Amino acid sequence: MSKKRANDKKIIKIFIALIIAFIATLQFIIQNVEDDNVKFVAEEDLKVYFIDVGQADSILVINKDQTMLIDAGGNENGKDVVKFIKSKGITKLNYLIGTHPHEDHIGGLDDVINNLDIENIFMPKIQTNTKTFEDVLDSIKNKNLKVTSPEKGTSFNIGDANCQIMLDPIIDENNLNLSSIVIRLEFGNKSFLFMGDAETKNENLINWKKVDVLKVAHHGSDTSTSKKFLNQIKPEIAIIMVGKDNIYKLPNSETIKRLNNVGTKIYRTDEDGTILIQTDGNSLDVLLQ
Ligand SMILES: [Zn+2]
Repeated sequence: MSKKRANDKKIIKIFIALIIAFIATLQFIIQNVEDDNVKFVAEEDLKVYFIDVGQADSILVINKDQTMLIDAGGNENGKDVVKFIKSKGITKLNYLIGTHPHEDHIGGLDDVINNLDIENIFMPKIQTNTKTFEDVLDSIKNKNLKVTSPEKGTSFNIGDANCQIMLDPIIDENNLNLSSIVIRLEFGNKSFLFMGDAETKNENLINWKKVDVLKVAHHGSDTSTSKKFLNQIKPEIAIIMVGKDNIYKLPNSETIKRLNNVGTKIYRTDEDGTILIQTDGNSLDVLLQ
């Protein structure tokens, strides 16, 4: 091959590489403009999205012009969670909750904090020395946010929905699940209970009121959702957030049995994908996304 032909080939290769890079950049820009152009529509109904993030938790709550995100999935889910929130036209979260510092709950928090306006951030008063936790602290610091560790009884609103912190965390460095922030949300006549990864030790701390929708604690693990607890709350609907074929073999069959025994209708993110529960305060609609 002549020197000139070799050079021509090189130039063509560089040219093709430049075109590919250009197209990729253009796609990226279009995608982001699309996300940013979605207009937020304030609605009278309460919407609760249980976002399918595999073996992890992320829940988006919307009413009127206010929003709350409970957990942000694992490290690999952060960007998708941000995209999901922006696809609803949301640029600001009034409340961001990191229920407890395990990767499958706070892994995506840094992406959420870096890409959205955050008004309030709640996390339990417990530290851990993982890179994931450090990343969250860095993003909090970079945005000059102040973390609140809410006490039992703390109350706040998301639009017309009232949220209450149900428990004081149990601080145990050997079991971070016990520090989970547990929230009861009431909207009209309907109620939701978001358990994080709380365990039966947490469930036994108080007497519980009846609840309509339960976000089952700890991905349906047998550590939680005791018979005694279920007999108090008697949920109409239970949501299990769990990954397909997860290595922990969750949800546990005993937990499923206990839920069935109180007549609860179960939905699971591994089978149903992202689940939306919408309510006007009188009836509940489950909409699979
Ligand atoms: Zn978890």
